[in-house]
Parts: sequence; C-alpha cells; structure tokens
Amino acid sequence: MNTLEQVRAATSDPAALRAALAEADIVPLLMSLTQITGRTDLLDQAQPYIKGAWNFLQEIPESLQADIRAALAHALEEAAAAGRQIPVDPGTDTFERMMEVAVGQPVPESYRAVLLEEASFAGTDHRSVPWRKQPDPAELGSFKAVVIGAGFSGIAMAIRLQEAGIPYVVIEKNADTGGTWLENVYPGCGVDTPCHFFSYSFAPNADWSSFFAKQDEILRYIHACVERYGIRRNIRFSEEVVRAQYDESSAVWSVTTRSRDGREETLRANVVVSAVGALNRPSIPTIPGLESFDGPAFHTAAWDKTVDLTGKRVAMIGTGASGMQAGPSIAPAVEKLTIFQRSPHWAIRHPLYHAEVAPGVRWAMRHVPFYASWFRFQLFWAASDGFHPTLRMDPDWPHPERSLNAANDKLRQDLVAYVTSELGDRTDLLPKVIPNYPPFGKRMLRDNHWYKMLRRPNVELVTGTVERIEADAVVSDGVRHPADVIVFATGFQAARMLWPMEIVGKSGTTLRDVWGDDNPRAHLGMTMPGFPNFFMIYGPNTNLAHGGSAIFHSECQARYIMLAIRELIETRSRSMEVKEQTFEAYNDRVDDALREMVWSHPGVTNWYKNKSGRVVMNSPWRLADYRNMTAELAREDYLFGAGATNQERNSGMIEVTAA
Ligand code: NAP
Repeated sequence: MNTLEQVRAATSDPAALRAALAEADIVPLLMSLTQITGRTDLLDQAQPYIKGAWNFLQEIPESLQADIRAALAHALEEAAAAGRQIPVDPGTDTFERMMEVAVGQPVPESYRAVLLEEASFAGTDHRSVPWRKQPDPAELGSFKAVVIGAGFSGIAMAIRLQEAGIPYVVIEKNADTGGTWLENVYPGCGVDTPCHFFSYSFAPNADWSSFFAKQDEILRYIHACVERYGIRRNIRFSEEVVRAQYDESSAVWSVTTRSRDGREETLRANVVVSAVGALNRPSIPTIPGLESFDGPAFHTAAWDKTVDLTGKRVAMIGTGASGMQAGPSIAPAVEKLTIFQRSPHWAIRHPLYHAEVAPGVRWAMRHVPFYASWFRFQLFWAASDGFHPTLRMDPDWPHPERSLNAANDKLRQDLVAYVTSELGDRTDLLPKVIPNYPPFGKRMLRDNHWYKMLRRPNVELVTGTVERIEADAVVSDGVRHPADVIVFATGFQAARMLWPMEIVGKSGTTLRDVWGDDNPRAHLGMTMPGFPNFFMIYGPNTNLAHGGSAIFHSECQARYIMLAIRELIETRSRSMEVKEQTFEAYNDRVDDALREMVWSHPGVTNWYKNKSGRVVMNSPWRLADYRNMTAELAREDYLFGAGATNQERNSGMIEVTAA
C-alpha cells in the first residue's frame, strides 16, 4: 500500500481512526505527524518528556498527547481530501531530530541509513541489491546457487536470489520451513526480541498478537513469507547436505545431499550459501546411567508432545533461555519439578513480555503512515545498540569480579532488587539464583515468571552437580531426586559450527581442518580463504549477544552475499576468494574488540566461548557497525578468478524443479 492508499484507508472509517489514535503509542504517532506534516512544534514540546524508546518511558502530558492525536487525525483527513502522496523524507535535519526524540537519547548521524533500511518507510526495500547492468538472460540462467537451510536466514537468502532472477535451490533437512522455529515446540517457546523488530524489514507484520510472540505465531509468519515470495517450489525438503566439495579446475561446488531414506544425490553449483543456523544440534551431556533411565528423556529442541507431564515428577537439567520458558510453563501441571542448575543466569523483567498488542495499536500499524516504521526503529534502538557501550570492561573499575563498569553495576543492583522482590519470603533462594558474574556475561534472559515459579511448593532448585541417573531418579551430590521424565534444557553444540557437514575447499582442505572442533573464524563471519564462492549466514562471530535481532544480521549478510554474487556475474568471474590478510586482519580486530567485552569476562562460562576460552560465537560490533561493514563489497578484499563461460557453467549444473 502506498501512503495515499494508506491515508484513504485510514480515513474511510473515522470512528476506527479515532479509536486507534486513542489507543496507539504516542511517540510513533508523533513521528507520523511530523513526517506527514513537516511541522516540528509538537515534536519540540514533547521532547523533554520522552525518556527512552519504550512507550512506558514517556511522560507526555495528557493535554499534549490529545493535541498530537487531534493534529494527526486532521493531517490524515486533509491528505486524503487533497489526494496527495506523502513524501517519505522530511529532510535530513528533521529526520535526525526525529530519531533522537523517538528514543529519548542522542542518536549518531550514522543511524540514518540504518533507520531508512530497517524502518522500510512506505514499503521501500533498501536492502535489495539491484543489477548495475542487467545480465544477459542466458548468462544469468547459467549461474546456479545452493542455499543450505530454510530457516529465517535461508529464506531471506532465497528471497534475494529469486528477486534477482538467479536460479537457486534450497536444501532443507526438515519436512518444512522454519528451522529452529519449526523444531522447538517445547511449552512456552517464544522469542525474547520484540517481534515487530524480530521479523524481516521488507515484510513487516502489523498483526502480531503480542510484543514477544510465541513459536506457533512466528512459524506462521515464516510460512506466510515463504508463500508470499513464492520460494517453496525451490526448496527440497527432508534432505540433508552431508558434503560440499569445491573443484578448482571448474570453480564449481559439488553438493551431496542425503534424503531420509538414505538416497544420496550430488548437485553442482557456482555458489554455496550455508544458512544452517547455530542452535540446532542439541547438546545432551554424558551423564553416567542415562541409558538406565526408565521413563521418557528428551531435549527441549526435540520435545516429545506424546508425553503427558500432568501429575509427573519431572527433572529439568539446564536453566538457560529454553529452560526459562519451559520450566514455568510446565510447573503448574506437574506433580514435582526438580530443576538442576549448574550456574545461574541473570534475568530481566520486561513490562510487555506477556502483553497483548491492543487492537488500536494493530490498526495504527496497518493504517497510519510511518507508525510501524518508527515503532520498529524504537525497538531497534531499545533492544540493541543503545546500551552496547555499557558491556565493555572499564579497566579502572574497582569491582571487576561482579560488574564491568558503573552502568553495568547499576544494572546489577536493579536486577538483584528485582529478584529479591520476586522471591519475597524465599530469601533462602537468593544465594542460589544471584550470579557471581556481571550481567550480560551469559545471555540475558527475560524473566518468564521464573522466580515466582521457584516459590511454588512443587518446585525444587538443585544446585549441586548432577552425578548420575538411575532408573527412576537423578542423583546430585549423593541425593536421589525421583523422576518420571527428564527434560534436557542443555543447549546446543553451537561452536561446532556447520557440523556435521563436511565442507571441502581448495586442495582438499576441510573447514574442520582449518577450524578444528570449535574454533570457527571467517571474514565478516561469511567468507574463508581457501573456500571460494562459499558463504555463511550466522557464521563465526555473528551471534548478537548485546541485543538486537538475528534477522537484522541475516538481512545484512544476505545483502553482502548478493553483492558478491552480483560481482561474480557482472564481471564474468568464475570465483572469488577472500584474501588471507583481509581474513586475518578482520579476525584480529574481532578478537581485540571481544577481549574488552563482557562475554570474555574470566568469571563467566557461556556457549559463546570455545574450549580454549576464545569467544567464537558473538559479534563485538554494534548493529550499525556491522551494517556499515557489509553494506558494500570491498572488491579489493577478494581474489577473483576470471573467465567463466556459459558452457562451463552449464556443464551438469543443478536443475531447479518445481515441487
Ligand atoms: P543454553 O543457554 O546453552 O543453556 C543450557 C543450560 O544447560 C545452561 O543452564 C547450562 O549450564 C546447562 N547445562 C549444560 N550442560 C550441562 C551439564 N552437563 N550439567 C548441568 N547443566 C548443564 O541453551 P538454551 O537455553 O537452549 O539456549 C541457547 C540459546 O538459544 C540462547 O542463548 C538463545 O540465543 C537461544 N534461545 C532463545 C530463546 C528466546 O528467544 N526466548 C529461547 C530458547 C533459546 P551452564 O550455564 O552452567 O553452562
């Protein structure tokens, strides 16, 4: 819908418009008004009352709010009557003021580009990569790409390839799209990032029922995107890539897939993009006696829905993000929930974590021009880069064991106060649940009524070591805890990136040869010397642990990979390979930056570090920095192999077949 269509739709039902304006968040409404009219007087008046990017942080007086709502209604009616399109850009200066007023904080000028991309004003898609010179259809048709994985990242990549008219096929091990959001169906599964931001910038969804949606709604969103962009026909389901091997003489990858019945097939492609994710190979600890357990035992990512937990004694091992959601969701139904915690996590309250999106807000998202865009920008800021600087260790800070700096220490105090108030008279639990490392050292969790759950009479928190498992019990520090069912909320083998696929580059060198078991490195998390035309999404050091949305990174990476493919095709190059010195220099920068960040804190264990203590998962960068590093392809970072002919490309390439 363009802005005029939006305005006409918004004003066609004046009662609905007034009702929605009364209910919708005031700051995005103010931004809409400013962008539609160009007037800044109300912006000036409201600015002192906006203390942060969340609606609950603004204190705009009711009378001023009423003026803003009335002025916006009038502006929409006037625009509809005049039948004019509303220009998207109110001018650089105004935009910059709006950014800082919207989030209640100074915002560096460099965020303008991020805002324009992320907010997708009036349906603009700034991350699309247009051809500079439209290639000959035969030339384009002879180029083939294989994408591995049909989760959020693989789908983003497929959408971009399809948009450019490049033949591709997606190989997906599951029977449907969705990746982690298809696999994880444990009770309470949902997202911790606000979903109006945890969604594609180019496919905003005005209909999220809550601010932090649950798994089924996210999966429906993914499926809707797959249908909308028509990529399903290019996905081969229930096939797993077991091996991909690069042939230097032809500059072609041979990708071997195995279907569920064990049938193998080899596809040939110019480019391979791995979008396999990092959190889908469950980690189940080797605990003596596990095989002797008589009842069901399963991992959160492989939840057995046939097991009715009602009235059962359940042992849950692990208290990370999955345990945080599963535990409180099953506690009311089970006879006894015994939770085995190796080390506590920090968890923060979010006032909107369990809140529904009011109908008027949904209506405004759909009908009020720019409302959803500004709301998304507020979330972007609130949920990510706004507090990135507070996660750096201050070398002069006098309490380095408990916090990083003054801001981190203040957060720690706030969290302790919150947990204390949640636990009430159960002060005996405090020493068990307050971490002894700084906030954000492990992934910050959103409190899903965890502490309230711990107060239940049928819940026990065990903090000793899990020694062994018997037929009907889990034994910790010599104490038997009877159990009918065991739930492993024990996370994933994240650092064994791309495992168990075998990726064979030049001279027969495998990724495992270069990375070892758990030391993955890549240029920008995407490319590796010795592995030409091979790209990764959600590769080494691209996990976001200060906040932000993994989808933001996926979109940045899909764009970068499209820039690379465009370069290959337009310059008629057969291969591109990142230079060794570029790769090394980038990784040095990553390691240097990470050394100062909270995840490297010596007192912290987390899934971001490998066995030798190097942080291999996380990005040290702000989202805006990573966006800037990936928005252009620096040709000089790569060695290009010249001279692919159509004939060479066509020799035995994959066929993309309709399902
Ligand atoms: P996780 O954060 O790695 O947590 C695993 C838990 O199992 C930790 O408490 C860990 O203890 C414990 N553990 C592992 N091995 C153990 C052993 N041998 N004995 C006792 N305890 C053991 O895994 P996760 O909860 O599945 O989450 C992984 C990531 O997935 C998250 O960080 C997040 O990025 C993503 N996720 C997101 C959401 C969401 O958005 N809401 C939900 C689920 C998952 P230690 O801490 O002592 O190692």
